[in-house]
Amino acid sequence: MPLQVYNTLTRRKETFEPIDPGHVRLYVCGPTVYDFAHLGNARPVVAFDVLYRLLKRLYPRVTYVRNITDVDDKIIDASKASGEPIDSITSRTTRAYQQDMAALGALPPDVEPRATEHIAEMIRLIEMLIQRGHAYAAEGHVLFSVPSMAEYGRLSRHNREELIAGARIDVAPYKKDPADFVLWKPSTPDIPGWPSPWGRGRPGWHIECSAMSWKHLGETFDLHGGGLDLIFPHHENEIAQSRSAHGTPVMARYWMHNGFLSVNSDKMSKSLGNFFTVRELLAEAPGEALRYFLLSGHYRAPLDFTRQGLAEAKAALDRLYTPLWTPDPFLPAGAAPPAEADIPADVVDALLDDLNTPLALSRLHALASDINRSRDPVEHVRLKGRLRKGGGLLGLLQQNADAWFRAPSPGGTKLGEAEIEQKIAARNAARKARNFAEADRIRQELFQEGIVLEDRPSGNTEWRRA
Ligand SMILES: [Zn+2]
Repeated sequence: MPLQVYNTLTRRKETFEPIDPGHVRLYVCGPTVYDFAHLGNARPVVAFDVLYRLLKRLYPRVTYVRNITDVDDKIIDASKASGEPIDSITSRTTRAYQQDMAALGALPPDVEPRATEHIAEMIRLIEMLIQRGHAYAAEGHVLFSVPSMAEYGRLSRHNREELIAGARIDVAPYKKDPADFVLWKPSTPDIPGWPSPWGRGRPGWHIECSAMSWKHLGETFDLHGGGLDLIFPHHENEIAQSRSAHGTPVMARYWMHNGFLSVNSDKMSKSLGNFFTVRELLAEAPGEALRYFLLSGHYRAPLDFTRQGLAEAKAALDRLYTPLWTPDPFLPAGAAPPAEADIPADVVDALLDDLNTPLALSRLHALASDINRSRDPVEHVRLKGRLRKGGGLLGLLQQNADAWFRAPSPGGTKLGEAEIEQKIAARNAARKARNFAEADRIRQELFQEGIVLEDRPSGNTEWRRA
């Protein structure tokens, strides 16, 4: 089955056909770096990370670009509010973002361009738009002329009235048309600015993505992703800028958007007290459990975060790691070692169908059940390998099972690994001395602390957190 993706441009699922099958190019809008990433910011990162992993399996070369917006009025406002210099805010927040996304198992993109390092490309793009009659300068600003582009509104399917209604909040006397939007704006001496043909100023947000995707992926590329909330105006404006500057029929062939994330059925907001940063949640649960949670719903569907849902994701991962934690059975004498495991085709098929991660996860669980039932040692080992490989395609199950089960959890036992090992050694000594009452007492004591012991046929005693 070829890869199918739902294309927001056409509002239907389409077979993915790359422009160059030798090199697939993907752009995803990245963060504006002024604060810690919240859970809603993590959703596109994890969803498009699965797409990236799948594309890398299907094509010889994939370039994934995800930008860092490090010049924006929100950053300037944050700096004014706290007194922290802008450079310090953006570099600190960028580092935190990269750490948090890595903790969620997201691969770093191939290119992570920073807006402030692409000002020359933005100015060049704006000059091209002016030359082609799609933009005009007025009072230190440069604006994109929306009426100059016949197909403006095609992605968001907004009509003229909706466009103007949306723009009304931002009426400015220098706009020729109320729907026109800013490409460049003047900076006062106290805020970041760069010299330009229109005076010292800074770019509008939309032009940043048009410039960075152009520089790193070309005038037209394969896939563009982001959250549903970016369709209008951000992606509509990216398309208008890129297509009008380059005279191309499309900017990206396929536009993919992930659905909203709510918390306890409400919109996540600081005022409602249900706002979670990724960092806060990472202190409560392993990153892999958060990732599992984010993949437990289809990327296009709305997803509601609850602590119960996160606990269920952790428990589901425990079930998947359990067969990986059990020791391999002894192979019969003379048996050929199992061939290298193949990636489970049904997991791949689920992802090929517009990244159906819930189905892919259910197939991993079916595979785990097969392992638990398997009595054939060679088959058992082979299925375990398949489970690891299938999990890998989703960015899951790549930890050592011991590490997964032994990782300290908030609210869990305060016992450290060394203390646990000491108690196990004491229990083994008691067993050796045939003092089974004492051995049972120690086992029970550890059990009360949430530590489960398993005596292996090899004579070793393994432990894990329940
Ligand atoms: Zn963007």
